[in-house]
Amino acid sequence: MASTLEDLRAQARGQVVAPDDPDYDEARAVYNAMIDRRPAVVVRAAATADVVAAVNHARENRLAVAVRGGGHSVPGFGTVDDGVVIDLSAMREVTVDPGSKTARALGGATWGDFNDATNAHGLATTGGIISTTGVGGLSLGGGIGYLARGAGLSCDNLVSAEVVTADGQTVTASGNEHEDLYWALRGGGGNFGVATSLEFRLHPVADIYGGPMFFEVADAGDVLRWFRDFIVDAPEEFGGFPAWQIAPPLPFIPEDRHGDTFLAFVACWAGPIGQGEQMLKPLHDVAPVVAEHVGPMPYPALNSAFDGLVPPGLQHYWKANFVKELTDDAIAAHLEHGPGVPVVNSTVHIYPINGACHRVASDETAFAYRDATFATVIAGMWPDPADNEKHTAWVRDYYDATAPLSEPGGYVNFMAQDDQARIRDNYKGNYDRLVEVKRAYDPDNLFRVNQNIAP
Ligand SMILES: Cc1cc2nc3c(=O)[nH]c(=O)nc-3n(C[C@H](O)[C@H](O)[C@H](O)COP(=O)(O)OP(=O)(O)OC[C@H]3O[C@@H](n4cnc5c(N)ncnc54)[C@H](O)[C@@H]3O)c2cc1C
Repeated sequence: MASTLEDLRAQARGQVVAPDDPDYDEARAVYNAMIDRRPAVVVRAAATADVVAAVNHARENRLAVAVRGGGHSVPGFGTVDDGVVIDLSAMREVTVDPGSKTARALGGATWGDFNDATNAHGLATTGGIISTTGVGGLSLGGGIGYLARGAGLSCDNLVSAEVVTADGQTVTASGNEHEDLYWALRGGGGNFGVATSLEFRLHPVADIYGGPMFFEVADAGDVLRWFRDFIVDAPEEFGGFPAWQIAPPLPFIPEDRHGDTFLAFVACWAGPIGQGEQMLKPLHDVAPVVAEHVGPMPYPALNSAFDGLVPPGLQHYWKANFVKELTDDAIAAHLEHGPGVPVVNSTVHIYPINGACHRVASDETAFAYRDATFATVIAGMWPDPADNEKHTAWVRDYYDATAPLSEPGGYVNFMAQDDQARIRDNYKGNYDRLVEVKRAYDPDNLFRVNQNIAP
């Protein structure tokens, strides 16, 4: 007999929220306010056993599963109509082993949780640039951030994971157990099961030297050309990215420039702090800096510095591309569309993913684009649903101008709901092997609420 809601309630230690529950609306909401889905049940898992019960319930009742870690998925993969949401956000403990330089995060931890725990030991690994993003979703899709050029992608630092698979088994995936699953998890996203814990390699990073710098739009071409040339063989401790940004009302920005549009550069030097100022000098020499908030700070401080620009409850529509070479034509397209960034929350980031990311072979993990130098995200984020048409049009126009100058694939974690047709392109030569692993671990596609690799 298939598991009933009563069975699920009896088995789970965490809360089981059904549509008639007073907490239902809160439990079904995700970060992107455009997403409005009505799951059959939300399981707020307290432990791995709850995840097993929820997976079994979904499989036995032929319901789709949506796994929610940090809930940041722009297409809203953390929820699903008529299916089972497994909400991991109560499972967020992070345990650090400074001796082996590793940390284990439960499946619902955020990068804020992770960085605070590891920074206490002067250690870090590559994570995202916002502290409220989930470790699970970000690292399983790849994981791009300030430390990537030196430490590799987040998924390159994944040492092992505890995974609940579609048949309700709990397995460990690592270099010597379930190696095929371990390979697929590093870039393949949430397609293969629920990662209830993830173990990462850490690197000695405590304080960094960096922060945001604002350049006039008139100087943006010079800054982008400098970035393109400098990043090719810049020291790998140098991370950071250019970003179109409307100036928020922050004290370090002259008051009469609040609301003006700039090309910002967010820098992060993770080498010896004393070298930081000198490392950023060439950038200062490119053009006058209108405002900056640059200096030494703990790595978690930079990781949470922009959280205020992206509170939960905004509308989101994003597009993404990998780029091998930022040609003059590509820069011209950025200069045409970037200054039109319509609202303070929206932005475009051009992340460098060379250095250590390139030292991993394209078939060594599921993340295939090891020859791309940049990952671009055009991130539309705005508060008022009445503006949906205007803001999605800005993202689409920008994307249409840059896509022909980019690779066919993009980073799965920056892609939109309407990008499912690009999945094969995102994984290039790794796609067929991913399908094989999917067939082995999830032949009925229970985990299909994601950038889906169909079995
Ligand atoms: C404000 C913001 C900033 C971002 N910054 C960055 C950045 O700097 N670098 C970067 O690389 N990406 C970044 N992203 C993109 C981010 O990587 C994706 O949105 C990612 O999917 C978020 O993971 P999550 O756990 O928060 O999301 P969720 O919505 O909870 O999950 C997203 C996907 O991952 C799967 N998933 C999540 N946790 C698990 C788990 N434990 N086991 C199995 N599957 C799981 C889900 O099934 C779903 O398909 C950002 C996104 C936002 C909204």
